[in-house]
Amino acid sequence: MRWVVKVGTSSVCEEDGRLSHSRIKGLAEQVGRLYHRGHEVMMVSSGAVGAGVGRIGRWPQTVGDKQALAAIGQARLIQAYQSVFDPVPVGQILITRADLEDPARRMASGRTLQQLLEWGVVPIINENDTVADEELRIGDNDTLAARVATLVDADLLVILSDIDGLYTDNPRLYPDARRIATVPWVTAEDLAEHTASPGPWGTGGMATKLEAARISQEAGIGMVLASSHEPDVLAKVMGMDWPGGTRFLAQRGNFGA
Ligand code: GLU
Repeated sequence: MRWVVKVGTSSVCEEDGRLSHSRIKGLAEQVGRLYHRGHEVMMVSSGAVGAGVGRIGRWPQTVGDKQALAAIGQARLIQAYQSVFDPVPVGQILITRADLEDPARRMASGRTLQQLLEWGVVPIINENDTVADEELRIGDNDTLAARVATLVDADLLVILSDIDGLYTDNPRLYPDARRIATVPWVTAEDLAEHTASPGPWGTGGMATKLEAARISQEAGIGMVLASSHEPDVLAKVMGMDWPGGTRFLAQRGNFGA
């Protein structure tokens, strides 16, 4: 089975932006278990800007600051992944919107990912923040992950976040909000209801997760939103009877494949 696993900044960094090697190691161990069972796994990882902040202790004031911080942090991020995945090889892919929209560049990006997977490499993907200005940006890694999933015709997209699913209301404001276990189809009203409400690092909040679900569903790819803090979450996602997270069904009506 072909997976795209997206992890947000809060899943790989400490609150002050420093990379959390223990969190990254935990994620790599989980991905490694899937890999050794014969699955193809690509990771879409945020954390470049956060890791840049953690390295030089400057908070971004402008888009230009974010781009420069990403240059510092992306190098550290990939270095961290390399060291925890070893001996499994990883490959870094940095993508802009133009790479996904221009037919020739899209084909080249897809071909490279395909080749890496055939060679048993785990691609680690992020937006190329350093060169993607406001106009060229996808802007958030939730929709980037969904677009990557459609590019490589993945079987499943998993978004690991600091929230453990989609709720009837914002659970931080409404304690009686209920988690929704299954979403057959994300509607236009669902999308309109959720405006971007980013945390300190993440760019999108729930709005971009629903957008990602919509892109995936339209492409016939199932998506699961789950907490990155849940122990062994990827194995639980694979076992279809796990009651946690929110499963967004593929348009075909079947989950996953
Ligand atoms: N590409 C950004 C980073 O690596 C994250 C974007 C997002 O939060 O979705 O810092």
